[in-house]
Amino acid sequence: MLVKLSARGLRPVGPLSAEPFVVRVVDDATPSASSAEHDALLLRGPDSSVPPGFRAYLFGRATSDVGARDAYVFGAEHGYVGPGDVVRINPRQRSLTALYRATSPFNTFLVTERCDNYCTMCSQPPKPHDDSWLVDDLERAIPLIPTDAAEIGISGGEPALLGDRLVALLRLMRDHLPTTAVHVLSNGRRFSDPAFARAVADVRHPDLMFGIPLYADLPELHDYVVQAKGAFDETVRGILNLKRARVRVEVRFVIHKDTFEGLPDFARFLARNLTFVDHVALMGLELIGFARSNVESLWVDPIDYQRELVDAVTTLDRAGMRVSIFNHQLCTLDSSLWPFARKSVSDWKNLYFDECAGCAQREACGGFFASSTLRRSRGVHRLTSDVSDRS
Ligand code: SF4
Repeated sequence: MLVKLSARGLRPVGPLSAEPFVVRVVDDATPSASSAEHDALLLRGPDSSVPPGFRAYLFGRATSDVGARDAYVFGAEHGYVGPGDVVRINPRQRSLTALYRATSPFNTFLVTERCDNYCTMCSQPPKPHDDSWLVDDLERAIPLIPTDAAEIGISGGEPALLGDRLVALLRLMRDHLPTTAVHVLSNGRRFSDPAFARAVADVRHPDLMFGIPLYADLPELHDYVVQAKGAFDETVRGILNLKRARVRVEVRFVIHKDTFEGLPDFARFLARNLTFVDHVALMGLELIGFARSNVESLWVDPIDYQRELVDAVTTLDRAGMRVSIFNHQLCTLDSSLWPFARKSVSDWKNLYFDECAGCAQREACGGFFASSTLRRSRGVHRLTSDVSDRS
């Protein structure tokens, strides 16, 4: 679910900086007080008159040497770049990475690729190297992001491995983006330390939520899914510590072959022991990362777990808990579940298949991950406006 888009292919048309830099993309050719430091001027045409005063120049069309430092022509792979975006330019690698896209409602910061879990279906397989430069970039990017940004996610790897740097990042977002909701995806284990949970709470971010996966009511099954012994205990203690410190928590459950049978018992476990969490997200499998390599052992057709899903949603709903179904197409869900289904697939990796042409529910349906070309439900079919039209 990361928004990070990175592509090589920038063609320099002037002298280059040596080091990577982070800039806000603007299309107003009048430089502001901070343009010399922070702004890249976007020039759609091959106009060779380049106004002075900007940190960098981005041309959407071919142009000859314009003389200005850090002037680049970008190709079709960068066509999404627009005003308000915040990007990282690496002159040596000729690459541009979008850190924030102004037109997307799905912006997520990747803060580290390190993780202390090793989930069988991980979409972003962990890497152990030092990647603290990711946070360095974000610390530069956050003050450049428009203050009307609705929501930003923080993801990894495991963000909580950043320790105090995560707390500092949340503080920076509170100060520069005070009305932006922040959603952190974490395995929750580091919050088994009550002092760390309190440090996050003490930021007093006005709109912060942690999304924490729990895959079973049985410790041994959760520990198997995340490939880490003792993880269940730490994660549950982490959830309790965060809630005790009044930090909002969403519990996430990814449905696949190893987890779907336990879904009804898991829902009863939540309804009895963790009724106070703020949201429960029941999620379809995205076939990328380890989920892609383990597809044969993990894939189960959503049509084949409708009984368990209806049971779980009914339990949670009756317990008064907020519950949502993510990453499922409406035609694969029992119609009683439609009120709980959310359009959750990020816009930049979202697609629809031939069956969707003329479907009466297309506007309401979240469609597919791009990775669904690998495997998709046999239940996908065009719907009429009649809700009862399910085969
Ligand atoms: S046919 Fe396509 S648009 Fe219609 S409900 Fe199914 S997946 Fe969604």
